[in-house]
Amino acid sequence: MMPDDDVLAYYCDAGKIASSVMKRGTSMIREGNPVINVVESIERMVEEKGAGLAFPLNLSFNEDAAHDTASPDEQRIFSEGDVVKLDLGVHLEGYIADTAVTVDLGNHGLLLEASMTALEKAIEIVRPGVTSGAIGGAIQREIEARGFRPITNLTGHGLARYSIHTPPSIPNISFPGGARLEEGMVFAIEPFASTGSGRVSEKNRAEIFQQTAVKPVRLPSARKVLDSVRNRHGMPFARRWITNGKQDIALASLINQGIVRSYPVLSDVPGSRVSQHEHTIIVTSDGCIVTTA
Ligand code: MN
Ligand code: MN
Repeated sequence: MMPDDDVLAYYCDAGKIASSVMKRGTSMIREGNPVINVVESIERMVEEKGAGLAFPLNLSFNEDAAHDTASPDEQRIFSEGDVVKLDLGVHLEGYIADTAVTVDLGNHGLLLEASMTALEKAIEIVRPGVTSGAIGGAIQREIEARGFRPITNLTGHGLARYSIHTPPSIPNISFPGGARLEEGMVFAIEPFASTGSGRVSEKNRAEIFQQTAVKPVRLPSARKVLDSVRNRHGMPFARRWITNGKQDIALASLINQGIVRSYPVLSDVPGSRVSQHEHTIIVTSDGCIVTTA
């Protein structure tokens, strides 16, 4: 079943906003530019268009595949050779557009082509009845044909109102069976191509957090954090967005109590390079709508 017309319009409008912000955002990634300027500009553009952020802008360098963003005291600048992933989530009334692109400041054109073509080929085969495993197969083929590895422990995912990760999961490798796609399903496809091992693991760094439970808290700074993210409807937030001065003690306490979780940076092996491309799609009777095209 396709979503109602008004829901469909929210999804498509969120997608158009994400796409246009992303085009302007990528043009700001140039050698010597500070990371903080790019991250804050992109997040501000989304708000200026009357939309919300479904999660903090992810900006991940080189072997880092996902879940990095600017810290409150961010000092990094873009340098020659960097492979920079921008992953943006825009929502209107909770209906989410999730899209990512990679910018190459070095000599990694083929790596970028691998994840981009994988995404195009995956989108080409989407229609009711196709399995998520078959989509993974198309992704794996394109990436391996260019001599790289798909990242096997990162996947695309379904989207629901205010929810970034719902079934089906869309693998980046061939898989026997898997979910059968149905008309009206909304999901993100996100191939990652790597020069490294093809698997990510967690780094110590975490800048992105999410409230996962509601419980009473005593620590005043922790209460302030929860107050400041109340309007998130459970969607992730950045440490950078919290400005109470004691956010690190507060976050540690909230994590200990099982109220907040962290999203550590996910990385392939040191020195490797990872590219990512992502679109959000809605399955139609004979194909799909790419909301973030
Ligand atoms: Mn994404
Ligand atoms: Mn995604």
